[in-house]
Amino acid sequence: MTINANLTAERATFVTHLECSMTGERYDADQLHGLSRVGRPLLVRYDLDAVKAAIPKAMIAARPTDLWRWREVLPVRHTRDIVSLGEIETPLIAIPRSAGSPNVLVKDEGRLPTGSFKARGLVMAVAMAKELGVTRIAMPTNGNAGAALAAYATRCGIEAIVLCPDDTPEINVREIAQQGARVYRVNGLIDDCGAIVARGAAEGRWFDFSTLKEPYRIEGKKTMGLELAAQFGWKLPNAIFYPTGGGTGLIGMWKAFDELEQLGWIGPERPRMYAVQASGCAPIVRAFEAGEEHAERWEDAATVAAGIRVPKAVGDFLILRAVRESGGKALGVGDPAILKAVDDCARKDGLLLCPEGGATLAAYREALRTGEVDEDERVVLFNCATGLKHPMPPADAALDRFAEIDLGAL
Ligand SMILES: *Cc1c(COP(=O)(O)O)cnc(C)c1O
Repeated sequence: MTINANLTAERATFVTHLECSMTGERYDADQLHGLSRVGRPLLVRYDLDAVKAAIPKAMIAARPTDLWRWREVLPVRHTRDIVSLGEIETPLIAIPRSAGSPNVLVKDEGRLPTGSFKARGLVMAVAMAKELGVTRIAMPTNGNAGAALAAYATRCGIEAIVLCPDDTPEINVREIAQQGARVYRVNGLIDDCGAIVARGAAEGRWFDFSTLKEPYRIEGKKTMGLELAAQFGWKLPNAIFYPTGGGTGLIGMWKAFDELEQLGWIGPERPRMYAVQASGCAPIVRAFEAGEEHAERWEDAATVAAGIRVPKAVGDFLILRAVRESGGKALGVGDPAILKAVDDCARKDGLLLCPEGGATLAAYREALRTGEVDEDERVVLFNCATGLKHPMPPADAALDRFAEIDLGAL
Protein backbone atom coordinates (compact mmCIF):
# COMPACT_ATOMS: atom_id res chain seq x y z
CA MET A 1 0.00 0.00 0.00
CA THR A 2 1.28 3.46 -0.83
CA ILE A 3 0.96 5.88 2.02
CA ASN A 4 0.66 9.53 1.07
CA ALA A 5 2.70 10.32 4.15
CA ASN A 6 5.82 9.08 2.35
CA LEU A 7 6.01 12.37 0.56
CA THR A 8 9.12 14.19 -0.36
CA ALA A 9 7.68 17.52 -1.47
CA GLU A 10 8.51 20.15 1.12
CA ARG A 11 5.27 22.13 0.93
CA ALA A 12 2.12 20.36 1.95
CA THR A 13 -0.36 22.97 3.08
CA PHE A 14 -1.99 26.17 1.81
CA VAL A 15 -2.84 27.39 5.31
CA THR A 16 -2.87 31.19 5.68
CA HIS A 17 -4.03 31.97 9.23
CA LEU A 18 -6.41 31.06 12.04
CA GLU A 19 -9.61 32.81 13.00
CA CYS A 20 -11.76 33.01 16.16
CA SER A 21 -15.01 31.10 15.51
CA MET A 22 -16.93 33.71 17.51
CA THR A 23 -15.42 37.09 16.62
CA GLY A 24 -13.49 36.36 13.40
CA GLU A 25 -10.33 37.82 14.97
CA ARG A 26 -7.21 36.77 13.06
CA TYR A 27 -4.32 34.74 14.49
CA ASP A 28 -0.98 33.82 12.91
CA ALA A 29 -0.38 30.32 11.60
CA ASP A 30 2.81 28.46 12.63
CA GLN A 31 2.41 29.45 16.28
CA LEU A 32 1.11 27.49 19.21
CA HIS A 33 -2.52 28.40 19.98
CA GLY A 34 -5.20 27.25 22.39
CA LEU A 35 -8.58 28.97 22.49
CA SER A 36 -9.09 32.49 21.13
CA ARG A 37 -8.90 35.55 23.38
CA VAL A 38 -12.66 35.27 24.08
CA GLY A 39 -12.28 31.60 25.03
CA ARG A 40 -13.71 30.09 21.84
CA PRO A 41 -12.32 27.58 19.30
CA LEU A 42 -9.99 28.77 16.56
CA LEU A 43 -10.61 27.74 12.96
CA VAL A 44 -7.85 27.21 10.39
CA ARG A 45 -8.12 29.13 7.10
CA TYR A 46 -6.52 28.32 3.74
CA ASP A 47 -5.83 30.09 0.47
CA LEU A 48 -8.50 28.09 -1.33
CA ASP A 49 -8.12 30.05 -4.59
CA ALA A 50 -4.50 28.96 -4.72
CA VAL A 51 -5.47 25.36 -3.96
CA LYS A 52 -8.07 25.55 -6.71
CA ALA A 53 -5.45 26.77 -9.19
CA ALA A 54 -2.79 24.27 -8.15
CA ILE A 55 -4.75 21.09 -7.47
CA PRO A 56 -7.33 19.88 -9.98
CA LYS A 57 -9.97 17.56 -8.55
CA ALA A 58 -8.65 14.82 -10.84
CA MET A 59 -5.27 15.05 -9.11
CA ILE A 60 -6.89 14.31 -5.75
CA ALA A 61 -8.81 11.44 -7.33
CA ALA A 62 -5.57 9.92 -8.63
CA ARG A 63 -3.89 9.85 -5.20
CA PRO A 64 -3.97 6.98 -2.71
CA THR A 65 -7.18 7.37 -0.70
CA ASP A 66 -5.73 7.83 2.80
CA LEU A 67 -6.18 10.92 4.96
CA TRP A 68 -3.02 12.69 3.73
CA ARG A 69 -4.55 12.77 0.27
CA TRP A 70 -6.10 16.03 1.44
CA ARG A 71 -2.84 17.59 2.66
CA GLU A 72 -3.22 20.94 0.88
CA VAL A 73 -6.31 21.67 2.99
CA LEU A 74 -4.80 20.27 6.19
CA PRO A 75 -2.62 22.35 8.50
CA VAL A 76 0.71 20.46 8.59
CA ARG A 77 3.29 22.76 6.98
CA HIS A 78 6.22 20.39 6.42
CA THR A 79 5.82 16.86 5.10
CA ARG A 80 8.60 15.75 7.48
CA ASP A 81 6.18 16.43 10.35
CA ILE A 82 3.48 14.14 9.00
CA VAL A 83 2.90 11.15 11.26
CA SER A 84 0.90 8.10 10.23
CA LEU A 85 -0.33 4.75 11.50
CA GLY A 86 -2.24 4.13 8.26
CA GLU A 87 -5.29 6.42 8.30
CA ILE A 88 -7.34 4.73 5.59
CA GLU A 89 -10.46 5.99 3.85
CA THR A 90 -13.23 4.21 5.75
CA PRO A 91 -15.85 2.22 3.85
CA LEU A 92 -19.57 2.92 3.47
CA ILE A 93 -21.59 -0.19 4.33
CA ALA A 94 -25.27 -0.73 3.59
CA ILE A 95 -27.39 -2.15 6.44
CA PRO A 96 -30.70 -2.72 4.62
CA ARG A 97 -32.28 -5.09 7.12
CA SER A 98 -31.73 -3.21 10.35
CA ALA A 99 -32.20 0.25 8.81
CA GLY A 100 -35.28 -0.72 6.82
CA SER A 101 -33.95 1.08 3.73
CA PRO A 102 -31.30 0.19 1.13
CA ASN A 103 -30.25 3.85 1.01
CA VAL A 104 -28.72 3.94 4.46
CA LEU A 105 -24.94 3.59 4.60
CA VAL A 106 -22.78 3.26 7.68
CA LYS A 107 -19.44 5.02 7.50
CA ASP A 108 -17.43 2.55 9.52
CA GLU A 109 -14.81 4.53 11.37
CA GLY A 110 -13.94 1.59 13.60
CA ARG A 111 -11.36 0.55 11.01
CA LEU A 112 -9.06 3.47 11.69
CA PRO A 113 -5.89 3.15 13.83
CA THR A 114 -6.78 2.71 17.52
CA GLY A 115 -10.26 1.63 16.42
CA SER A 116 -12.03 4.98 16.36
CA PHE A 117 -12.38 8.21 14.40
CA LYS A 118 -10.49 9.97 17.16
CA ALA A 119 -7.45 8.90 15.12
CA ARG A 120 -8.40 11.48 12.46
CA GLY A 121 -8.38 14.35 14.91
CA LEU A 122 -5.40 13.25 16.93
CA VAL A 123 -3.10 12.39 14.03
CA MET A 124 -3.50 16.01 12.95
CA ALA A 125 -3.29 17.61 16.39
CA VAL A 126 -0.21 15.58 17.34
CA ALA A 127 1.52 16.26 14.02
CA MET A 128 0.95 19.97 14.60
CA ALA A 129 2.15 19.74 18.21
CA LYS A 130 5.31 18.08 16.92
CA GLU A 131 5.74 20.77 14.26
CA LEU A 132 5.32 23.52 16.86
CA GLY A 133 7.74 21.98 19.36
CA VAL A 134 5.37 20.68 22.05
CA THR A 135 6.99 18.04 24.26
CA ARG A 136 4.24 17.23 26.79
CA ILE A 137 0.49 16.98 26.25
CA ALA A 138 -2.39 16.37 28.69
CA MET A 139 -5.97 15.50 27.81
CA PRO A 140 -9.30 14.62 29.42
CA THR A 141 -11.04 11.73 27.62
CA ASN A 142 -13.96 9.31 27.71
CA GLY A 143 -11.57 6.71 26.27
CA ASN A 144 -11.08 6.75 22.51
CA ALA A 145 -9.46 10.17 22.24
CA GLY A 146 -6.96 9.21 24.92
CA ALA A 147 -6.11 6.01 23.06
CA ALA A 148 -5.50 7.89 19.81
CA LEU A 149 -3.43 10.54 21.59
CA ALA A 150 -1.35 7.86 23.30
CA ALA A 151 -0.59 6.11 20.01
CA TYR A 152 0.38 9.17 17.99
CA ALA A 153 2.21 10.96 20.80
CA THR A 154 4.30 7.86 21.49
CA ARG A 155 5.10 7.63 17.80
CA CYS A 156 6.40 11.21 17.84
CA GLY A 157 8.25 10.97 21.13
CA ILE A 158 5.86 13.36 22.89
CA GLU A 159 4.90 12.69 26.53
CA ALA A 160 1.16 12.18 27.07
CA ILE A 161 -0.83 12.40 30.30
CA VAL A 162 -4.45 11.26 30.06
CA LEU A 163 -7.25 11.77 32.60
CA CYS A 164 -10.49 9.82 32.28
CA PRO A 165 -13.64 9.33 34.40
CA ASP A 166 -13.15 6.32 36.72
CA ASP A 167 -16.00 4.45 35.02
CA THR A 168 -14.39 4.68 31.57
CA PRO A 169 -14.50 1.25 29.88
CA GLU A 170 -11.56 -0.82 31.18
CA ILE A 171 -10.34 -1.63 27.67
CA ASN A 172 -9.92 2.09 26.92
CA VAL A 173 -7.92 2.75 30.07
CA ARG A 174 -5.63 -0.18 29.33
CA GLU A 175 -5.11 0.61 25.66
CA ILE A 176 -4.08 4.15 26.63
CA ALA A 177 -1.50 2.78 29.09
CA GLN A 178 -0.32 0.08 26.69
CA GLN A 179 0.33 2.65 23.98
CA GLY A 180 2.70 4.57 26.18
CA ALA A 181 0.71 7.33 27.91
CA ARG A 182 0.34 7.89 31.66
CA VAL A 183 -3.36 7.42 32.40
CA TYR A 184 -5.26 8.35 35.59
CA ARG A 185 -8.84 7.51 36.60
CA VAL A 186 -10.64 10.52 38.07
CA ASN A 187 -13.73 10.37 40.28
CA GLY A 188 -15.79 12.67 38.06
CA LEU A 189 -16.96 13.27 34.50
CA ILE A 190 -14.95 14.39 31.46
CA ASP A 191 -15.34 18.10 32.25
CA ASP A 192 -14.06 17.46 35.80
CA CYS A 193 -10.99 15.83 34.19
CA GLY A 194 -10.75 18.83 31.88
CA ALA A 195 -10.61 21.21 34.85
CA ILE A 196 -7.52 19.41 36.20
CA VAL A 197 -5.87 19.49 32.77
CA ALA A 198 -6.60 23.22 32.51
CA ARG A 199 -5.01 23.82 35.93
CA GLY A 200 -1.77 22.12 34.88
CA ALA A 201 -1.76 23.96 31.55
CA ALA A 202 -2.16 27.30 33.34
CA GLU A 203 0.90 26.40 35.43
CA GLY A 204 2.83 25.70 32.21
CA ARG A 205 3.22 21.98 32.93
CA TRP A 206 1.82 20.73 29.63
CA PHE A 207 -0.15 21.67 26.52
CA ASP A 208 -3.95 21.30 26.86
CA PHE A 209 -5.38 18.91 24.23
CA SER A 210 -9.06 19.09 25.34
CA THR A 211 -11.62 18.90 22.54
CA LEU A 212 -11.60 22.14 20.51
CA LYS A 213 -9.14 23.81 22.91
CA GLU A 214 -6.46 23.36 20.29
CA PRO A 215 -7.31 24.19 16.66
CA TYR A 216 -6.22 21.11 14.73
CA ARG A 217 -8.45 18.22 15.78
CA ILE A 218 -11.28 19.82 13.80
CA GLU A 219 -9.05 19.81 10.72
CA GLY A 220 -8.40 16.08 11.10
CA LYS A 221 -12.07 15.32 11.68
CA LYS A 222 -12.92 17.48 8.67
CA THR A 223 -11.53 14.73 6.45
CA MET A 224 -14.75 12.78 7.12
CA GLY A 225 -16.59 15.41 5.09
CA LEU A 226 -13.94 15.51 2.36
CA GLU A 227 -13.99 11.73 2.10
CA LEU A 228 -17.78 11.55 1.93
CA ALA A 229 -17.80 14.03 -0.96
CA ALA A 230 -15.28 11.95 -2.90
CA GLN A 231 -17.03 8.66 -2.07
CA PHE A 232 -20.39 10.02 -3.21
CA GLY A 233 -18.99 11.28 -6.53
CA TRP A 234 -18.92 14.93 -5.33
CA LYS A 235 -22.63 14.99 -4.56
CA LEU A 236 -23.32 14.84 -0.84
CA PRO A 237 -25.94 12.58 0.76
CA ASN A 238 -29.33 13.96 1.87
CA ALA A 239 -28.77 13.49 5.58
CA ILE A 240 -25.97 12.68 8.03
CA PHE A 241 -26.57 11.27 11.51
CA TYR A 242 -23.64 12.08 13.76
CA PRO A 243 -23.19 10.92 17.38
CA THR A 244 -22.41 14.20 19.09
CA GLY A 245 -20.28 14.68 22.17
CA GLY A 246 -17.90 17.61 21.75
CA GLY A 247 -19.16 17.89 18.18
CA THR A 248 -15.73 18.13 16.54
CA GLY A 249 -16.74 15.87 13.66
CA LEU A 250 -19.99 17.63 12.91
CA ILE A 251 -18.35 21.06 13.01
CA GLY A 252 -15.43 19.73 10.95
CA MET A 253 -17.63 18.22 8.24
CA TRP A 254 -19.66 21.41 8.00
CA LYS A 255 -16.41 23.35 7.52
CA ALA A 256 -15.24 20.80 4.93
CA PHE A 257 -18.38 21.27 2.85
CA ASP A 258 -17.85 25.05 2.74
CA GLU A 259 -14.25 24.60 1.67
CA LEU A 260 -15.23 22.07 -1.00
CA GLU A 261 -17.79 24.50 -2.40
CA GLN A 262 -15.21 27.32 -2.46
CA LEU A 263 -12.90 24.95 -4.34
CA GLY A 264 -15.70 24.38 -6.83
CA TRP A 265 -15.63 20.63 -6.14
CA ILE A 266 -19.24 20.47 -4.89
CA GLY A 267 -22.31 22.67 -5.35
CA PRO A 268 -24.27 24.61 -2.73
CA GLU A 269 -26.44 21.63 -1.64
CA ARG A 270 -25.83 20.39 1.88
CA PRO A 271 -26.95 17.32 3.81
CA ARG A 272 -29.30 17.83 6.75
CA MET A 273 -27.07 17.36 9.78
CA TYR A 274 -28.60 15.40 12.66
CA ALA A 275 -26.74 15.72 15.95
CA VAL A 276 -27.55 12.53 17.85
CA GLN A 277 -27.22 12.38 21.63
CA ALA A 278 -28.21 9.90 24.31
CA SER A 279 -31.28 11.06 26.21
CA GLY A 280 -29.28 10.58 29.45
CA CYS A 281 -26.89 13.33 28.31
CA ALA A 282 -28.52 15.61 25.74
CA PRO A 283 -27.46 19.24 26.30
CA ILE A 284 -27.42 20.01 22.57
CA VAL A 285 -30.90 18.53 22.05
CA ARG A 286 -32.27 20.60 24.92
CA ALA A 287 -30.68 23.80 23.58
CA PHE A 288 -31.83 23.03 20.03
CA GLU A 289 -35.42 22.54 21.15
CA ALA A 290 -35.37 25.66 23.30
CA GLY A 291 -34.00 27.74 20.41
CA GLU A 292 -30.87 28.63 22.41
CA GLU A 293 -27.52 29.52 20.91
CA HIS A 294 -25.53 27.90 23.70
CA ALA A 295 -26.16 24.73 25.73
CA GLU A 296 -26.17 24.58 29.51
CA ARG A 297 -24.31 21.82 31.35
CA TRP A 298 -26.28 18.57 31.60
CA GLU A 299 -26.32 17.39 35.22
CA ASP A 300 -26.02 13.71 36.24
CA ALA A 301 -25.09 12.60 32.72
CA ALA A 302 -25.49 8.84 32.24
CA THR A 303 -25.57 6.60 29.15
CA VAL A 304 -24.11 3.36 27.77
CA ALA A 305 -22.72 5.46 24.92
CA ALA A 306 -19.69 6.76 26.85
CA GLY A 307 -18.20 8.51 23.81
CA ILE A 308 -21.06 10.99 23.72
CA ARG A 309 -21.32 11.53 27.46
CA VAL A 310 -20.21 15.15 27.28
CA PRO A 311 -22.24 17.37 29.65
CA LYS A 312 -20.85 20.65 28.27
CA ALA A 313 -19.24 21.35 24.89
CA VAL A 314 -17.09 24.43 24.27
CA GLY A 315 -18.19 24.38 20.60
CA ASP A 316 -21.91 24.12 21.44
CA PHE A 317 -22.82 27.19 19.37
CA LEU A 318 -20.96 25.84 16.33
CA ILE A 319 -22.83 22.52 16.53
CA LEU A 320 -26.19 24.25 16.91
CA ARG A 321 -25.41 26.68 14.09
CA ALA A 322 -24.46 23.90 11.65
CA VAL A 323 -27.49 21.79 12.56
CA ARG A 324 -29.87 24.73 12.08
CA GLU A 325 -28.29 26.05 8.86
CA SER A 326 -28.47 22.55 7.39
CA GLY A 327 -32.17 22.12 8.17
CA GLY A 328 -31.39 19.18 10.43
CA LYS A 329 -32.17 18.62 14.09
CA ALA A 330 -30.66 17.51 17.38
CA LEU A 331 -32.19 14.17 18.37
CA GLY A 332 -32.08 12.27 21.65
CA VAL A 333 -32.36 8.46 21.91
CA GLY A 334 -32.64 6.28 25.00
CA ASP A 335 -30.18 3.57 26.02
CA PRO A 336 -32.66 0.71 25.34
CA ALA A 337 -33.12 1.93 21.74
CA ILE A 338 -29.33 2.25 21.37
CA LEU A 339 -28.68 -1.30 22.57
CA LYS A 340 -31.51 -2.68 20.43
CA ALA A 341 -30.03 -0.97 17.35
CA VAL A 342 -26.56 -2.43 18.03
CA ASP A 343 -28.12 -5.88 18.48
CA ASP A 344 -30.26 -5.66 15.34
CA CYS A 345 -27.47 -4.42 13.11
CA ALA A 346 -25.12 -7.20 14.24
CA ARG A 347 -27.71 -9.98 14.02
CA LYS A 348 -29.44 -8.88 10.81
CA ASP A 349 -26.71 -7.18 8.80
CA GLY A 350 -23.53 -8.68 10.28
CA LEU A 351 -22.06 -5.30 11.19
CA LEU A 352 -21.00 -4.73 14.79
CA LEU A 353 -21.55 -1.11 15.82
CA CYS A 354 -20.30 0.65 18.93
CA PRO A 355 -23.08 2.08 21.17
CA GLU A 356 -22.56 5.59 19.77
CA GLY A 357 -22.96 4.18 16.24
CA GLY A 358 -26.04 2.34 17.50
CA ALA A 359 -27.40 5.70 18.66
CA THR A 360 -27.32 6.99 15.07
CA LEU A 361 -29.20 3.94 13.83
CA ALA A 362 -31.77 4.31 16.62
CA ALA A 363 -32.19 8.00 15.77
CA TYR A 364 -32.54 7.21 12.05
CA ARG A 365 -35.27 4.64 12.74
CA GLU A 366 -37.15 7.13 14.87
CA ALA A 367 -36.73 9.83 12.20
CA LEU A 368 -38.07 7.43 9.57
CA ARG A 369 -41.06 6.63 11.78
CA THR A 370 -41.92 10.29 12.35
CA GLY A 371 -41.41 11.22 8.68
CA GLU A 372 -38.38 13.40 9.44
CA VAL A 373 -36.48 11.40 6.79
CA ASP A 374 -37.78 9.56 3.76
CA GLU A 375 -36.93 5.96 2.88
CA ASP A 376 -35.69 7.09 -0.55
CA GLU A 377 -33.18 9.55 0.85
CA ARG A 378 -29.48 8.78 0.85
CA VAL A 379 -28.40 8.74 4.47
CA VAL A 380 -25.05 8.28 6.20
CA LEU A 381 -24.81 7.03 9.79
CA PHE A 382 -21.50 7.36 11.58
CA ASN A 383 -20.18 4.32 13.40
CA CYS A 384 -17.37 6.10 15.14
CA ALA A 385 -15.55 3.20 16.80
CA THR A 386 -15.17 -0.53 16.56
CA GLY A 387 -17.87 -2.51 18.32
CA LEU A 388 -15.16 -4.84 19.60
CA LYS A 389 -14.20 -2.42 22.38
CA HIS A 390 -17.57 -2.96 24.07
CA PRO A 391 -19.03 -5.79 26.13
CA MET A 392 -21.23 -8.21 24.19
CA PRO A 393 -23.99 -10.53 25.41
CA PRO A 394 -22.61 -13.80 26.82
CA ALA A 395 -22.35 -16.85 24.52
CA ASP A 396 -21.93 -19.87 26.82
CA ALA A 397 -23.06 -22.85 24.74
CA ALA A 398 -20.49 -25.69 24.89
CA LEU A 399 -19.99 -29.20 23.51
CA ASP A 400 -18.47 -32.24 25.23
CA ARG A 401 -16.43 -33.96 22.51
CA PHE A 402 -16.38 -37.24 24.52
CA ALA A 403 -20.18 -37.43 24.79
CA GLU A 404 -22.66 -38.13 22.00
CA ILE A 405 -23.38 -34.96 20.02
CA ASP A 406 -26.74 -34.40 18.35
CA LEU A 407 -25.36 -32.70 15.22
CA GLY A 408 -28.84 -32.03 13.88
CA ALA A 409 -29.56 -29.87 16.91
CA LEU A 410 -26.57 -27.52 16.43
C1 LIG B 1 -15.58 10.98 20.69
C2 LIG B 1 -16.61 10.07 20.27
C3 LIG B 1 -17.84 10.55 19.80
C4 LIG B 1 -18.17 12.02 19.74
O1 LIG B 1 -17.42 12.69 18.78
P1 LIG B 1 -17.35 14.27 18.77
O2 LIG B 1 -16.91 14.62 17.38
O3 LIG B 1 -16.37 14.68 19.81
O4 LIG B 1 -18.71 14.78 19.07
C5 LIG B 1 -18.77 9.63 19.41
N1 LIG B 1 -18.54 8.32 19.49
C6 LIG B 1 -17.37 7.81 19.90
C7 LIG B 1 -17.17 6.33 19.94
C8 LIG B 1 -16.35 8.66 20.32
O5 LIG B 1 -15.20 8.16 20.74
